[in-house]
Amino acid sequence: MPSPSPASLTVDLNALAANYRTLERVGGVPVHPVVKADAYGLGAERCAARLMREGARTFFVARTREGEVLRTALGPQPAIYVLDGCLAGRAGRLRAADLRPVLNTAEQLADWRAAGGGRCGLQIDTGMNRLGFRSEAAPEPFEGLDLVLSHLACADDPAEPMNARQRDAFALAAARYPGTVRSFANSGGIFLGPDYGFDASRPGICLYGGGPEGRPDARIRPVATLAAEVLQVREVPAGESVGYSRRFIAETPRRIATIAAGYADGVLRSYSPEGRVRVGGAVRPIAGQVSMDVCAVDVTGLEVAVGDPAELFGPNRMLDETAAAAGTVAWELLTSVGPRAVRTYVD
Ligand SMILES: *Cc1c(COP(=O)(O)O)cnc(C)c1O
Repeated sequence: MPSPSPASLTVDLNALAANYRTLERVGGVPVHPVVKADAYGLGAERCAARLMREGARTFFVARTREGEVLRTALGPQPAIYVLDGCLAGRAGRLRAADLRPVLNTAEQLADWRAAGGGRCGLQIDTGMNRLGFRSEAAPEPFEGLDLVLSHLACADDPAEPMNARQRDAFALAAARYPGTVRSFANSGGIFLGPDYGFDASRPGICLYGGGPEGRPDARIRPVATLAAEVLQVREVPAGESVGYSRRFIAETPRRIATIAAGYADGVLRSYSPEGRVRVGGAVRPIAGQVSMDVCAVDVTGLEVAVGDPAELFGPNRMLDETAAAAGTVAWELLTSVGPRAVRTYVD
């Protein structure tokens, strides 16, 4: 593990590349990576550049601004779709950066065409009721449309009957647009089976080492490691407390390691009390409330020294388990890693 001080987020781009290849193999169709929210906090420029080296030629972002940044980083070659679509007054910026809006409404379509149009995608809402045209209100095929997509609401639950309903509704709606690329499966969708593949998948979290179903899949490799070093080790006598609000009381004498990572680095306060940290060769509970700069870990019985690395998540402490212990999901955990955590890349 690289030197963890201060809190560091290490991104293994080789693991990212391996996940990309795995998702292409499992899904059986080209992978169009989702690199929104700065590639889920891992750094969109570095991640997308590496994915391009692996063969990716089409990317998705959420915001126009994210697309502009990515275009500058990647150059003219790849297609970049913007999931927000063509917001009022944005057509000029989209066209200037050669971004393709995923049009969600008749107004967006009208604005895009009024500004001269060009290549774009279309989102069909097959039941999530979030973004996109309802199937019955989807537009006639039009010049420039090269991709049609829909998004699964429950892809993380293979037993959910809505998955098949959405798949069938998408197949029907997409048939109106022959010759366009049909993009359906997110990470979870790729693992639902070949009939969810259509022409291209759109994974995010599995590229970055999470899931797909809120629990680790052996084929997906961990990509991100959040680690920090031990700042101090102390013996806490029975009856004393640790941290703010006395949330941890030492019933018996405890050895406590203070770790140089707190909620400003992405160790959510909800890590307490169920959170676990890998330190001194063992996985140990967080003791008391996480604070801004540090958290305390009960290392009683372990040999732990100042400067030792502590892993919040990574190869030895699965992202999905960490997320579950914090009462959240891998997506939120990754995107919550704070700007103070130093990003380093293994390439
Ligand atoms: C975020 C997003 C994805 C990626 O989802 P994952 O579950 O992270 O694979 C795909 N499609 C759309 C429309 C999204 O918003």
